[in-house]
Order: sequence, then structure tokens, then C-alpha cells
Amino acid sequence: MSVQRQLLEILMDGNFHSGEKLASSLGVTRAAIWKNIKILESKYELDIHALTGKGYRLSQSIELLDSEAIIDKLTIKNVIPEVETFLSIDSTNRYLMKKVLSADLQCHAVFAEQQTSGRGRHGRSWVSPFGGNLYFSVLYPFQRTPRDVTGLSLAVGVAIVEQLEQQGIESAKLKWPNDILVNGRKLCGILLELHGESHGPFAIVVGVGINISMPENAAREIDQPWVAYQSLTQTPISRNQLAASFLSNVLLALQEFERDGLAPFRERWLQRDCYMNSKVKLQLGDREITGIARGIDQQGALLLESQGQVQRYYSGEIHLRPAK
Ligand code: ATP
Repeated sequence: MSVQRQLLEILMDGNFHSGEKLASSLGVTRAAIWKNIKILESKYELDIHALTGKGYRLSQSIELLDSEAIIDKLTIKNVIPEVETFLSIDSTNRYLMKKVLSADLQCHAVFAEQQTSGRGRHGRSWVSPFGGNLYFSVLYPFQRTPRDVTGLSLAVGVAIVEQLEQQGIESAKLKWPNDILVNGRKLCGILLELHGESHGPFAIVVGVGINISMPENAAREIDQPWVAYQSLTQTPISRNQLAASFLSNVLLALQEFERDGLAPFRERWLQRDCYMNSKVKLQLGDREITGIARGIDQQGALLLESQGQVQRYYSGEIHLRPAK
């Protein structure tokens, strides 16, 4: 375990810890503690108070994600042999897309406290500051062909919204194809990536970003309305518990989708469609189409009624927004 992780595990309670005690617990010099405190401040933008005679403390306590705690709290056992946690990573999806190339492909999840290049669709970025939110990806060897994957990101959306409902957050709704909104503000984004041949071995990587507690300075980088879980509940939050609950539900959805496709999810999706029967506009490259959203079809294509006709739109560089 890195010195920075060990330091954080001590400091995460938000209490003062003297440099001397930190140095002896970690078996390093006080100068090394000071150097690593500076790294924690600059790399992770953590606010650490230093007071002569008292030592160092984090301005706010945090609960670091921990692989064993997450595995222990999973409601679905024996499906995922490996759950990794990182303090920082470029992108959890990118990390697992590289793993896909390994010969021994097995189900694998990875969480990070921070993503330095968190990804959205089509090269857009997902703002991923340290220690407050959830960013995770799941690598899942898929026993069907890539064609059968159509609609999978909708099924994952259903799994996450249903989990939010179980946590008492009833106002979370789905926006086609891959977002979860609360009163028009984005709470969660889903990014599905595929790897494999059309007939050969094939794997998917499902990436999920959920805002739990968003630091103000990072929030300024988000260029559309957003919301964080913490503002929607009075219940105290355990990030490891939340991580395990969302991961369990996503794994269940992957299994169910692999077996039965989109069918068991379609009705559940429609019940939670944030734009059902509302006026929306669809941006397709330079074109903009205004119409009434009519849900999704059996394949997960968006149904849009315009000039008396319902047309299907498949995922791609398409953006759905409310129309004035
Ligand atoms: P689409 O409607 O096509 O899904 P989108 O603009 O929502 O379009 P996504 O790829 O789903 O695009 O998500 C990336 C976008 O989400 C970013 O461009 C930014 O506007 C927004 N975003 C980035 N980070 C966050 C975050 N932590 N919370 C909420 N929204 C974010």
C-alpha cells in the first residue's frame, strides 16, 4: 500500500494527527510525511490543516473506498472475483478496456476516488474530483454477440434508478440513452464500451459515474445542470455501502440482460422515462428535430413523434433535450 493511501487511511477521520505519530506509524521520517501531505494537497486537491503542536487534519472526514468492504457488502455473491480500488486513475473504463485484451477474461470491477480523464460519450469528459462521488466500471464477458448488446445501457440505467428508489430517492428518472436526472439535473452518467469480434470472444465495459458529494470548485467545471445524491437524502451515507449496492444491481442487470435481452427492462424503463409524452428536441449533427417523446421500442431505439409520424432513432451522436 502506498504511503499516500496509508496516510489518508489515518487522516480520513478528520481528527488531528501529529507528524511524529504519523511518521512512526508509517515507518518514515517526518520530512517524508510533510512531503506526502503536500502531494495529497496538490494531486487530490484535499484541504489539509496543519497546526503547530497538533499536527495535520483533513478539513472534512471522508470514507475511502475499500475493495474488501465493497465485496463484503455485495448482495450478489460469487459473480465478481475481483474488485479493485484506486486513489486515482485516468479513467476506470480505459483501465478495464485494456484488461479486455488479456487472455483470461473474467468479470472484474474497478472503483476510483478520482479520475483524471473521466469519460462521457463521444470524447466528452466526466468531472471526477477526489473522494466524494462514485466512479466505477465493470468488465463483463458477454456470452452473446455484439448485436445483442443494443439496449444494454438502458438496462443499466434501470438498475441504477431502481437502486436509487430503494434508497428512498423516487425522483430519479431516465433520459435516453444513458443519463439519470433528478428534476432535469444530471445525477449519473453511464458509458458502455465494447470489445471483441462479431463472432469471437466479446466483452463489455460498463462505466458509471454518480455524483454523491460534489466539491464546489470541481462543480464549476460541469457545463450543464447537475445534482448530487447527498442533497437528496437525510440518511447518512456510507460510500462503500452505496458502491456495493449499485455494483450488485448492475451485475444483476448484466446477468438478466445476457439471459433475456431488453424485454424485462423495457416497461421498467418506460415507467421512469423523464421525457415521456413531452416536447423535446433531438440534435442529430447539424439537424434539429422537435417532436413529442414516445418512449422506446423493443430494441431500445428512441421513439419521436413529429409531424404526425413516429420515427425511431438509434444511439449515436444524438442528443435529446427538453424543448421550450
Ligand atoms: P447526451 O444527451 O448525448 O447524453 P451529454 O452532454 O449529457 O449528452 P454525456 O456523454 O452523457 O453527454 O456526459 C458528458 C457530459 O455530462 C459533459 O459534457 C458535461 O456536460 C456533463 N458532466 C460532466 N461531468 C459531470 C458530472 N460529474 N455530473 C453531471 N454532469 C456532468
